[in-house]
Order: sequence, then structure tokens, then C-alpha cells
Amino acid sequence: MNTEETNSFQAVDEGFTMIEAIAEAKKCLQCKVPQCRKGCPIENDIPDFIHALSMGNMGDAMRIINEKSNLPAICGRVCPHEKQCQGHCVMNKKGTPIQIGKIEQFIADFDTAMNLTREKLPQKDRGKIAVIGSGPAGLTVAGDLARQGFNVTIFEGQDEPGGVLMYGIPEYRLPKKVVRAEIQKIEALGVNFECNVLVGENSVNVDSLFHQGYDAIFMGTGTSVPQNMDSTPGAKLRGVSQSTYFLHNVNSYNEGAIGRDMVPLRDGEKVGVIGGGNVAMDAARTAIRLGADVTVLYRRTQEEMPAIKAEYEQAVSEGVKFKWNTSVTEFIAGENRRLAACRLSTPEGELVERFDRVFLAIGSRPANRIVSTTEGIEVDEKGYVKVVERPYGMTTRRGVFAGGDVVHRPQTVVLAMKAAKDVAQGMAQYVDAIKLLEAAKKVEEQHITDK
Ligand SMILES: Cc1cc2nc3c(=O)[nH]c(=O)nc-3n(C[C@H](O)[C@H](O)[C@H](O)COP(=O)(O)OP(=O)(O)OC[C@H]3O[C@@H](n4cnc5c(N)ncnc54)[C@H](O)[C@@H]3O)c2cc1C
Repeated sequence: MNTEETNSFQAVDEGFTMIEAIAEAKKCLQCKVPQCRKGCPIENDIPDFIHALSMGNMGDAMRIINEKSNLPAICGRVCPHEKQCQGHCVMNKKGTPIQIGKIEQFIADFDTAMNLTREKLPQKDRGKIAVIGSGPAGLTVAGDLARQGFNVTIFEGQDEPGGVLMYGIPEYRLPKKVVRAEIQKIEALGVNFECNVLVGENSVNVDSLFHQGYDAIFMGTGTSVPQNMDSTPGAKLRGVSQSTYFLHNVNSYNEGAIGRDMVPLRDGEKVGVIGGGNVAMDAARTAIRLGADVTVLYRRTQEEMPAIKAEYEQAVSEGVKFKWNTSVTEFIAGENRRLAACRLSTPEGELVERFDRVFLAIGSRPANRIVSTTEGIEVDEKGYVKVVERPYGMTTRRGVFAGGDVVHRPQTVVLAMKAAKDVAQGMAQYVDAIKLLEAAKKVEEQHITDK
């Protein structure tokens, strides 16, 4: 990576200093009925950890956070705070809400730097759990169940854990050293990680995991199959590719794992990004960092765009252009079946615009690798796994649970965590119940033998 590129991928927001964090914490009104907590999907005890911070009690602040969250350094950076905790802060009335995300980030980073956390961990004798996938959902189930005395192993298809946190969200928003530090904390709870194991391929599948003695299995496998535009003429041209593939490659390039030539973008290219969500913003802002001239093409209005507002504003300030109510109706070929231009339907009518490259960011859905190799896991017409309320989060296959994006469609990190926390409870109840029944059966068998 050249020096210019290195700088451009450095974290956009370096976070609070200690003095800034404590000063911000002291501004909190400690409301009797804290609205911020209501705005947090995992009901983090925000006023309590802010109070601890305001007195300089860093260990306490982290302990309070750990009661609800396994990934605070990540949530502090990538949650849509303006819609959640911070958006609910009563001080919004004065236009100065407490910067809760940055406070959470500060506490978690301080904990990592100083290695403060000292948790008393129970014996891992309550049951054996397999977690498939190590994104926010899998990491949350693993962390919660390890803390409750379960022996947990995560199976991850990639060569490093983290899911979208590691391979999707770019370095400048979520430094990989932060993701690795959070994962190390989960490992320190006694969770085992087996990477490069794609469950459903070769010899490892749901049945083989049960044969290995796992009492319950959690699927947190996300949505790895991106939507394509195959019905649009020219969609298979060279130069039309997926944003997630591009982001994955750039993350690997930033890590030094691959060369610049493996990143599908040359300096100075004119790039279109199709979509209006966070993935589109990440692709656009990443492409601009690599020297491209970038336009986002979104089929709806600015107001309807699902991306986090701050992401959109950053993209604009970095030079990304936007065309609203604009759809690509044809990818036009130049030499060697390479993309040369796009035919656009715009509010001003149809026009043809030159593009060297287009990245698609129009959604994704689950892969069927596990359900196609396992009997009894029902999915809906789009491939999302169906789950039941009791035991909470169990699929139609007994003992197999699921949560996160593979159930609820592409959402956010904290919503995947929220779903996973609830499923972890369902799994704990299920395993306790089967263990109890096993014990009862043994008593009965012993009684019969004794007679
Ligand atoms: C580019 C991008 C940017 C985003 N930005 C934000 C943001 O700023 N804020 C926010 O809150 N959300 C954001 N999101 C959404 C958020 O990242 C997801 O909602 C969240 O990661 C879902 O978590 P998950 O654990 O369900 O799945 P994932 O994070 O997708 O993790 C699934 C894991 O399962 C593994 N896996 C899949 N199949 C198998 C198998 N058969 N065997 C073994 N392992 C398997 C995968 O390799 C992966 O590691 C973004 C998403 C993307 C793609």
C-alpha cells in the first residue's frame, strides 16, 4: 500500500481522550427514566456506565457494559447511534445529546489497552455447544453461553473470525485490530475457535457435529449471497462486480494478505455504485480512497436511502456524488466485453454515462450450504431460516438454533446481537432440559436394573 492510501484508510474518528470522555460523561443528566437505554436494542445500562466513567471508575464501567454486550468497542464505532441510544437522549432537545457511542468506544478501548477485565468464569460443565459463524450473532451466543458455563466451539469458514466485522466494514470505520481485540476477549472466556471450517462442505455438517457430542448447534451464518442484476442486459460484463467482493479484497489488501493488482479498481477510474445502504456507502468511500471518481446510483429519493445519515454525509464530504431516482437499465460493453458505460433511467429522462466499473450493493441473502446438507431445517421462499418461539430461536430441526441476519434479513450489528442474546437463552433452557431428561432416564434405568 502506498503512503497516501495508508493514510486514507486510517480511522476517520480516533475517539475521545480520557479528559474528553470524563467531561462528556459529567454532562449526563442521569435521568430517572433513561430514554437512552430504551433506545438501545440490547438495553445497555448506559446511565450506569456513564456514571462510573464520570468518577473515573473504568473497571466498573466496563463490568457494567459486559453484563449486556460482548462487542462494545465495535458497537461504539458502527451502531446507528443517532437512531438508537443517542437519538433518544433528552439532551437532543438542546441539540447536544451525550455522545454515547464515543463514550462506549472509549471505555472498551481503555479496557483493552490496560487489560482491566477480571471476570470469574464458571466451570464449563453445563453442556457442549457448536456455533457456526463468527459474526456478531455467533460471537454473542458464544460469549453469553461461555459465561453461563457452557463449553462452546465456534466453526468459521473464513481464515479469521469476525464475519462482516472483519471482511466487510472497512478499516477506516472499524480498525481490524479493534475487532481482533474484542475476539480475544471472547476467547479469554474459554470459547474455542476452529477457522477454515465451512460447515456443510466436506465432512463437517450438522449431523457430524451432533455425532461429535454437541448438545445444541447455533447457526449465525449471515447472508453471504449478494443479489445480482442478471436480468439487466450486460450485467455479466467485466467491470461489473459485487461491492462485498470489492470490500473483502480491499480489507485483505490493507492487511497485506494480497497485492494491489488483486483489488478490482485502478487509480482514476470512473466508478458507479448501485444501491443506497451502508454497503453502498462503504464501497463508494473505499473506492474514493483508492483514487476513483465515484457516483452512487440510487433508485429512490435521498430521504428513502437506508444508509446511516452520518455515513452519507461523510461520503459527500469525501467527494462521492449521488444520483437520486436513478436506475441502470443496461450495462454497455466496450472492447473485450469490458464495461464502457451505463444506460440510466433518471428523472431527466434516459441518458448514457461512461463508467469504467460498477459495484452492486443491492442486498444479499443466505447461502443454502447448511440447509441443503441437513434434513429438517425449513427456510422461507428467500432462504431465511424459520425459527420458533419455544424454545426461543430453535429451527424446525431439534437442537439446531439460528439467529442474526440468516433469520432476520440483513440488519445491523446490534440487532444481530440482540437476536443472538435471546437465542442464547433459548439454547441454555433447551440444553438444561435435555440434560434433566437424560438424568431422569438414567434414574429410571438404574431402578429397573436394581429390581
Ligand atoms: C459492508 C457492510 C457494512 C455494514 N455496516 C454496518 C454498520 O456500519 N453498522 C451496523 O450496525 N451494521 C452494518 N452492517 C450490517 C452488519 O454487519 C450485519 O447485520 C451483521 O454482521 C450480521 O451479523 P451475523 O453474525 O448475522 O452475520 P455475519 O456478520 O455475516 O457473519 C456470518 C459468519 O458466518 C460465517 N459462515 C457462513 N456460512 C458458514 C458455514 N457454512 N460454515 C462456517 N462459517 C460460515 C461467515 O464466514 C461469517 O463469518 C454492514 C454490513 C455490510 C456487509
